[in-house]
Amino acid sequence: MADEGQQMKTIVGHNIVVFFTFFLIIFTTAVQIFLIQAEIGLMGLFLPPTMLFGSMMVINYWKCVKIDSSSKSVGKPPSVQTDGWRYCPYTGCSGSVPVNSRHCHQCNVCVIQRDHHCHFTANCIGQNTLPFFMVLILSMFGLTLTYCFANIIYITTHETPGTLILTVVAPIQVLWYFLGYVTLSHCLISLNIVISFGALMGSIVLNYHEYNLLFHNKPYLTKSMPIASSGVLKMSKLDRIKEVYGKKWYMFFIDPTHQSAIQKQFGVTKVM
Ligand SMILES: [Zn+2]
Ligand SMILES: [Zn+2]
Repeated sequence: MADEGQQMKTIVGHNIVVFFTFFLIIFTTAVQIFLIQAEIGLMGLFLPPTMLFGSMMVINYWKCVKIDSSSKSVGKPPSVQTDGWRYCPYTGCSGSVPVNSRHCHQCNVCVIQRDHHCHFTANCIGQNTLPFFMVLILSMFGLTLTYCFANIIYITTHETPGTLILTVVAPIQVLWYFLGYVTLSHCLISLNIVISFGALMGSIVLNYHEYNLLFHNKPYLTKSMPIASSGVLKMSKLDRIKEVYGKKWYMFFIDPTHQSAIQKQFGVTKVM
């Protein structure tokens, strides 16, 4: 029973995190479109990338939340220890798991080709979720870069040096709003500027991490499992992308139901 209560708490916690992240995306997008892009009069320029990257981000975020990245997604483990399987002693598994999986203590389950536990999706990024995570962080980079460009134009055309400091220090803006010194829209715009700049920095770090993992087999941020390949350093970048995501790797940007080569064919990746 204690376990069930704990599980319930975890599920509620996950839902709050996912709801909050969705709220953040919708909030910044609404402020960006209706208060900033409309105000600077450049919607024709900024709205198309906002819609494109925004929808790509939401779709792939949802996939990263929903897809089972655990070792249980590959079916029942064999009852007898065979090649390609090992024993995991932790409570969530206590049985055979694929050798190319690593236990996540937050998910309490082994995750195939575990990259890292993503707190924003409340799920592990591993073999099953990695392609969608890659599209997610690339579209997040595109979206936040678009927002930051629009923000810079807004700041340079609408802010005096005196209000600039207040604009970029969002918590002070919120306080100023409650004290009645600034309008609500000014407060929201200021929050948007800070959130989109922070998200841009975050997406750069994540993209750098995944770039290294993909092309140098060297995880930079987390203790990810390298996606091993015999000749990753000698391979051309395009060949490496094809190896990990399949020949039709570009389909991940177009079709959210697409699956990569390693997803389709369990066990083809070797672990170093
Ligand atoms: Zn495990
Ligand atoms: Zn996890």
